[in-house]
Amino acid sequence: MPQDPVCTAHLKEENIKSTATFKGEMYYFCCPSCQEKFLHNPQKYVSATNTKWWKRFLQRLEKASEEEYGNSKPSCH
Ligand SMILES: [Zn+2]
Repeated sequence: MPQDPVCTAHLKEENIKSTATFKGEMYYFCCPSCQEKFLHNPQKYVSATNTKWWKRFLQRLEKASEEEYGNSKPSCH
């Protein structure tokens, strides 16, 4: 079920009144005013809902590169 990132309400399809795209992701809103708030400062709402996922992703990335390169990290020059 999509979630309104502004008021955090879970939305049924018939309750979706507005949508917006940000960085290739689709977001759904319960009302045009939520959409307006989102578009005014999308980063705020996106990071609020995706922080946990993003941290997990970064941790996994870090771990993966440690395993791959061990002690001899490649230099960029
Ligand atoms: Zn809303």
